[in-house]
Amino acid sequence: GALKEIDIDESLHSVLTIAEPEIKKNNIEVELQLENLPKVFCYASELNQVFMNLVINAAQAMENGGKLSISGREKNNSIYLEFTDTGCGIKHENISKIFNPFFTTKPVGSGTGLGLSIAYKIITEKHKGVISVDSKEGQGSVFKIIIPRELNEN
Ligand code: ADP
Ligand code: MG
Repeated sequence: GALKEIDIDESLHSVLTIAEPEIKKNNIEVELQLENLPKVFCYASELNQVFMNLVINAAQAMENGGKLSISGREKNNSIYLEFTDTGCGIKHENISKIFNPFFTTKPVGSGTGLGLSIAYKIITEKHKGVISVDSKEGQGSVFKIIIPRELNEN
């Protein structure tokens, strides 16, 4: 994809609209808290793919309902995003594996285990950013992304 200037707020809204059937099906409440984010120069379609993976993973982690909170703010010329869910959480011993290609805990045919490895590449390699997770089994997960605002073509 091409580098372009986008509105993160708009990207998240369009991702949430596309993911709506999955969100509704699982009775998930969504809360967006975006503190007037500045526009970002980024690989727009790739970044949307990351957002979609995180939203669908969160929805799938909350089969019996829950809450997905997405927050965003700007600090030191970087965008900080957090995707917080009240879902099943991640086993301690799996935390170091979830960004590996083909790691999945989902039944055969329902998860490829590629979503987070692709997200990791898109954030760290294409955007020189950071993606990390905090999670407790049985309580939920927080996926954190930092995207530097100034991105030079390479
Ligand atoms: P897939 O969704 O196809 O399994 P991913 O790379 O997207 O592959 O995720 C890898 C694994 O990380 C999932 O199978 C799941 O075990 C775990 N995971 C990812 N996101 C969450 C989440 N929000 N809550 C709980 N577990 C998660
Ligand atoms: Mg996934």
